[in-house]
Amino acid sequence: MTLDNIKQEIKNAGKIVILTHESPDGDAIGSSLAMYNALKQLNKQVDLIIPEYPETFNFLEGAEEIKKQGQEDEKYDLAIALDAADVKRLNGFAKYFENAKVTINIDHHGSNKMFADYNFVNPDAPACCQILILVLEYLGVDITKEIGTCLIAGIITDTGGFKYSGTSKETFEFTSWLLSIGVNVSEVYRKVLEVRTKGNFALTKLAIDRLELLEDGKIAFTYITKEDEKNVNAKNGDHDGLVDIGRTIEGVEVSILLREADGFFKGSLRSNEYVNVSDVCMMFGGGGHVRAAGCSIHLPLEEAKEKIINEVKKHLK
Ligand code: 5GP
Ligand code: MN
Repeated sequence: MTLDNIKQEIKNAGKIVILTHESPDGDAIGSSLAMYNALKQLNKQVDLIIPEYPETFNFLEGAEEIKKQGQEDEKYDLAIALDAADVKRLNGFAKYFENAKVTINIDHHGSNKMFADYNFVNPDAPACCQILILVLEYLGVDITKEIGTCLIAGIITDTGGFKYSGTSKETFEFTSWLLSIGVNVSEVYRKVLEVRTKGNFALTKLAIDRLELLEDGKIAFTYITKEDEKNVNAKNGDHDGLVDIGRTIEGVEVSILLREADGFFKGSLRSNEYVNVSDVCMMFGGGGHVRAAGCSIHLPLEEAKEKIINEVKKHLK
């Protein structure tokens, strides 16, 4: 059984590295830090490498120990990828994964490419953090208040505050248990979901101002350029949540955000009831979940917009 293998490989490993997806969100950071703290509790030698991440998550235990850069020639005995559907999503840090002797992939994306020696993937889980509860218990880790806080940060982020359809009975059961061990769920909720950075507020205004309703109001489209981000002095993660605005408008099925990156546009898609946006994004080499997915489009804004809208149109009723 995969969990037995994972337990054995962690036991055998000398140096371990934990990696997660680029543009890390609360689930990526929460799951990585929960695993990091857990492995330290098991007295393992472990590095967590995340090049850039939003300051919002600095309150989580172990955040100050996150490495931005690994040692160039570092070879790890074991690499663990969390919340990443594809080894390419590990960004420039895929090399630490590929150079490791043994690899583990723990994730909840339906589009996961099963890229490791041991893959523990459950697309029914609303967050990678929810899968980790099972994994950590199996490893004999004591889920402390600090580790629980990392896990709930990921669960709250990826369930949109317990409101997305993937939110399960287990989500509430686990949250209730966390409350009983003293985790301040409401404070984490406020920190990860409610508090807006000034940059995010400025980008939200722009995104709303530009938002277009298309196809009889079933598609909401908006975009953000590099210039916008520069103008408002945006920091890492300040674009988080912009794509959700369109989805809240009555009648909208799919919300699209195009965000300019280095020489391409990053598409973020969300749907409400029936469009599988992971399928849409896979047409552009991306993926994700049924109701939340992303992709990279190497075209100028107008062409990227037309292409993605045309693809979404094929899925509308
Ligand atoms: P977001 O729109 O928040 O960046 O991403 C939504 C979901 O889609 C996340 O679960 C994320 O991991 C996934 N995702 C975003 N971009 C890509 C991509 O380029 N490829 C794949 N496979 N998944 C992506
Ligand atoms: Mn996730």
